[in-house]
Amino acid sequence: MLSSRARALPASSTAALDAHIKSLLADGADIVNLTGGELDFPTPEQAADGARRAIAEGHTRYTPVAGIGPLREAIARRLRTHWGCSYEPAHIVTTNGAKQALAQIFTVLCEPGDEVVLPAPYWVSFPHMIALAGAVPVVVDTATTGFKLTAESLRAQITPRTRAVLLNSPSNPTGVVYDRSELQALATVAVEHGLVIVSDEIYGDLVHEGASFTSVASLAPEIAERTVTIGGFSKTYAMTGWRIGFAAAPQPVAAALSAVQGHTSSAPSSISQHAALAALTGDTDAELARRAAELNARRALMCEGLDGLRPLRLAARPQGGFFAFVDVRGLYTRPGDDAQTVAADLLEKAGVAVMPGRDFAAPDHVRLSYAVSTEDITQALHRLATCLKSINERE
Ligand code: PLP
Repeated sequence: MLSSRARALPASSTAALDAHIKSLLADGADIVNLTGGELDFPTPEQAADGARRAIAEGHTRYTPVAGIGPLREAIARRLRTHWGCSYEPAHIVTTNGAKQALAQIFTVLCEPGDEVVLPAPYWVSFPHMIALAGAVPVVVDTATTGFKLTAESLRAQITPRTRAVLLNSPSNPTGVVYDRSELQALATVAVEHGLVIVSDEIYGDLVHEGASFTSVASLAPEIAERTVTIGGFSKTYAMTGWRIGFAAAPQPVAAALSAVQGHTSSAPSSISQHAALAALTGDTDAELARRAAELNARRALMCEGLDGLRPLRLAARPQGGFFAFVDVRGLYTRPGDDAQTVAADLLEKAGVAVMPGRDFAAPDHVRLSYAVSTEDITQALHRLATCLKSINERE
């Protein structure tokens, strides 16, 4: 009964593992869960009030497909003021989480068989989103270039079928942030070869001390003309359940994306749109700054702890987002060991759940979230230290 596309599509392994751990926890298991992809902060009060007001005022009907005007205006304004991009409301399409924007954009951009360059390690859904649109992900390993795609490695992949390149800075799962000159070099190649840059900037507001974020579309007008910026409220405002994301794109692309959305899901929830609008227009800056400082402290705690946990090795010091990306090869003891077997061992022996990297194209790495409480990070590090000590003593 299944189409070849459906047969080729595994269920999301990250969501499946997260659900498995949550069900073990619900059964009373003693596990520190570092697999998740969401901050433990609450929805900002301003956003929750906005949602309550929307219900009270009857904003409970279909909205325009691309989202209500004031929200698109507020998103465009924020992209101008915070990231230096020149977007207008007509460039903005709000979506059911950034995920929907990403899932739809390749249908908008690609003919069947077109190629999309995808640096690896990548977020687990990227290759499937590309393939579902009938396009072909061309995966480029970035392990030897600091987990970043370079202009040379991009250029080396270009064929007459190359249509787009998909960037994600700050990155899930590696935590690396591309600097301005690196993005400029990649964008120059994209302009030279007529490629579209799909830039997933969902973690763009969560950049840690010592790093700075550049939005690709802010680089130059001719670059913005071939860039689709993807963002959302899940990470910046810890609003994962509200499902509001957006694409900011040249006007014909935004219109086409809106048309696809109009024939599939329509606009995202009207109530969530009002919550997102209130998050943007309410005075949330102080709260966001407090959260950024807290996340920075959690990152430091996690990284310092991992530095002392030989033979685990932090593969890159995270500069943004909330994941630590750890090389686990030092823990291999049997032929056939990989991050899956290490993650299973750590769950069983240490009671710490980490995300194995196989489906991120990183079979020797695991991803640890530091979006959890300080207590959970401390407890996880303590458990890992005890477990590694007993392994090291045995050897
Ligand atoms: N892009 C990346 C890199 C992510 O890590 C995630 C969520 O984990 C998303 C997009 C999707 O976010 P949303 O909740 O807005 O759909």
